[in-house]
Amino acid sequence: MKECFECDQGYYKEYLLPYKTTDAENKEMTVLDIPHLVCNHCGETALSAKASRMIEEARIAVGVTYKERKKLW
Ligand SMILES: [Zn+2]
Repeated sequence: MKECFECDQGYYKEYLLPYKTTDAENKEMTVLDIPHLVCNHCGETALSAKASRMIEEARIAVGVTYKERKKLW
């Protein structure tokens, strides 16, 4: 377990939570089951490198879907 950077008293626990972001076309999208690190003391939330990668991949996947659709239209 990692110590919290914010309060130095708590520890991060990993939770799978939905993450809200915007896609390449600035539309809101939610990526499910992203591992968030949440401090058990102050509630500070951090994303691991793995989580950031998962979000980035989801955004790319959505972008590719738009392109494919445009091609079809
Ligand atoms: Zn904390």
